[in-house]
This record gives sequence, structure tokens and C-alpha cells, in this order.
Amino acid sequence: MLNLDSEYLAEEHRLFREQLRKYIASEIAPEASAWEEAGIIPPHVYERMGELGFLGLGVPAEYGGAELDALGTVVFGEELGRSGFGGLAASISDHADMALPVIVRSGTPEQKSRFIPDIAAGKRVMGFAVTEPGGGSDLTNLKSTAVRDGDDWILNGQKTFITNAISADVFITIARTDPNGKGAKGYSIFVVEKGGKGFSVGAKFEKTGWCSSDMSELFFDDFRVPAANLIGEEGRGFYGLMRGLERERLALCSQCIGMMERSIEITLEHVKTRPAYGKTLWDLQSIRHEIASHVSEISAAKLLIYHAAAKKSRGFDVRMETSMMKATVPQTMKRVVDSCVQMHGASGYMRGTEIERIWRDTRPFSLGGGAASVMLDEVAKLL
Ligand SMILES: Cc1cc2nc3c(=O)[nH]c(=O)nc-3n(C[C@H](O)[C@H](O)[C@H](O)COP(=O)(O)OP(=O)(O)OC[C@H]3O[C@@H](n4cnc5c(N)ncnc54)[C@H](O)[C@@H]3O)c2cc1C
Repeated sequence: MLNLDSEYLAEEHRLFREQLRKYIASEIAPEASAWEEAGIIPPHVYERMGELGFLGLGVPAEYGGAELDALGTVVFGEELGRSGFGGLAASISDHADMALPVIVRSGTPEQKSRFIPDIAAGKRVMGFAVTEPGGGSDLTNLKSTAVRDGDDWILNGQKTFITNAISADVFITIARTDPNGKGAKGYSIFVVEKGGKGFSVGAKFEKTGWCSSDMSELFFDDFRVPAANLIGEEGRGFYGLMRGLERERLALCSQCIGMMERSIEITLEHVKTRPAYGKTLWDLQSIRHEIASHVSEISAAKLLIYHAAAKKSRGFDVRMETSMMKATVPQTMKRVVDSCVQMHGASGYMRGTEIERIWRDTRPFSLGGGAASVMLDEVAKLL
């Protein structure tokens, strides 16, 4: 498998990878199947990951973070993906790569010191609540509203398909604050704390994959949010969210790389020992070529991701690279992992096998965080 660590990573990234891999092997792997069954990640996982410094990668040191750059996000994603538990990767990444960075990027010093330390320490769990029943891809048509009333905003609306809706205490959300605003104009971002009159959570959704990652709906019914919880510039929330997309795409695509690499590893173990025609499956040239072509595709995808992360770490605009990545890497993963299941034969389709779980967990990556067609639109806009 192509290893880019020495070309792209600094000592701090490599050390971080080593610590995270060790932690996942010793503390996650033994328990994660139970979380899949339970349909939720228990709070002690966030607390332990926070204690080990894994949740505040992009957070400045003064708020308890590790101050790692975009390549740190890639290492984090790859190792979460390599765990083979897409649900674990989704929930942790939702907290650390999607929701928390909004406060880091756009929060005031007061908001940062009020929220970040506990969240980076894993004492409070975060969710990212944007999608509504009326649509998710088209973010210019959200219906939630917030109206100013004294020192509060009164929030009304419904958010759906929200990862960590049950387990999280704090959410980033978005609502229209300018009733005359049209399209992308007139939205604002809020950090909302669960509980209190007018805030309710729906029943837990049952998903095909990402089973350990809980999901539900949030309902805001004249829910009062302190004015001090508006994040960034009033009326420019859409653009505030857009600023986080490059990081979100790097995180999701790196998880795909980790999941594909793990799938190849277990498939190699299988085909090299599976008896067939007096030898093993590995002795069939078509099987060897199939795996070699997957490894070549994974390597090409990985190079694009590392290139984008290295460029972003140097302060460049990587909208083109991250859109191309998000348009293609989850699609590659669906093909590669499906082929790995095929090479396992019937055993790869049985519940309880690792490859079967990874296969189920591949699907959401091309649904959420920007569908493939939406990403191709983004690429086309920049041509
Ligand atoms: C497992 C999972 C976890 C999620 N977690 C969260 C979360 O934590 N927070 C959150 O806010 N949301 C979350 N979502 C929701 C996710 O962001 C949305 O599903 C996504 O934005 C797509 O929106 P939609 O489902 O409403 O599909 P729609 O917007 O209705 O789109 C349906 C399909 O139409 C096609 N399409 C859409 N736009 C275009 C276009 N411009 N050109 C061509 N084709 C197009 C695509 O194939 C798309 O898949 C999650 C979704 C899943 C599956």
C-alpha cells in the first residue's frame, strides 16, 4: 500500500498516528461491536479521547488543543477509517472535524473560552444540525427561523438526519435571521445547548450502516437561544458554513482511504489462505490483478488528498481539490469494498464479519457531506 508519511508528514503527525492507532487497537476494537449493537457511542469514549488529546486537533493550545494542521485531519480520518467502524468515525468526526471547528474558526474569544475547553476534552459532545426535512443538498432553502427578542433569539424549525442527536449536548445549527433574506443571504449560525423549553429530540433512527453513530431529529419550538450564542456575522451564516467544507471533505475522504486500506488488508489475508483449485484464490491472476488495480486507485486517491491537505496547510484555497476528492473517493470506495466482499464469497455477506460491516458503512459517504453530483457541480463551477 502506498505510504506517504515520510514525504508529507512531520514528526508530530507520525507520532499522533502511532498513538491513535495504539489507542484504537487497545481500547476501541474490543468494545466497538457492542456500540454497534447499542446504536450509540458511550460518553466515556469522548472523555478518553479528549484526555489523550485526540479531539482538539485544530484547536489552539490556549483552549487545550493540539494545533495540528490539515494533514493532522487526514491522519485522524485515516486511522478512524482503519478501525473498520464507519459509525465510530462518523460520530467522532462530526464532533471534532465538523461542529467544533465552527467555534474555533468563527467564535468570539468569550464563546471560545466558554465552549471549547470542555468540548476538546470530550466532557461535552457536539452535533452539527443543518439538514431539514425540506432538503439537504440545497442549503439556500432552509426553513428554520430565528427572531430577535431582547437578549435572546427565538428559534423555530426542524432539523433531520442529525448525527449525535441523542448523544450530543451542544449543536451548531443555522436559521434564517433576516426574513427578507433570499437564497444564501440572511442566515445566521448558532451554538445551541440541548434542553429547556422548546427543544426536543425525536426517536432514534435505524440506519443500514454507521450503526454505532446515533441519529435523530431536532425540533425547535419557540426555543430561546441567548444572543451571545450567535456565531460569526449575523446574516452571513451560509458563508460561515461554506468556510468549513474543505476540512469536512478532507476528513470524510480520509476515512474512506482508511476503510479501503483495511478492506484490502483483510481481503489479502483471505485470498492468500482460501483454498481454490488445489492452490489458493491468490494464485488466480484475475484476483491478483483485481487487488493490484484497487491498490493503484486507492493510492491515486490518497495522493490527491495528501496534496490538498498539504496545500491547505500552507494557506492555499483547495476548493477544487477537495470537491474533486469528495466527488470521486466515496465512489471508488463503494466499488473497491464491494469487490472485496465478492472475493470473500458468501462469508463476506454474513453479519458479524468485518468486511460486511465495512461494506454497509461505505454507503453514507456519497450521500452526506455533499452528494457526488453536487460535488461535480462545484468542480464544474471552477473550470
Ligand atoms: C448517515 C448520515 C448522516 C448524516 N448526518 C448529518 C448531520 O450530522 N447533520 C446534518 O445536517 N445532516 C446530516 N446528514 C444529511 C446529509 O447532509 C444529507 O443527506 C445531504 O445533504 C443530502 O440531502 P438530502 O438527503 O436531503 O438529499 P437531497 O438534497 O434531496 O438530494 C437527493 C439526491 O439528489 C441528487 N442531487 C441533489 N442535488 C443535486 C444537484 N445539484 N445535481 C444533481 N443531482 C443532485 C443527489 O444524488 C442526492 O443524493 C446525514 C446523512 C446521512 C445519510
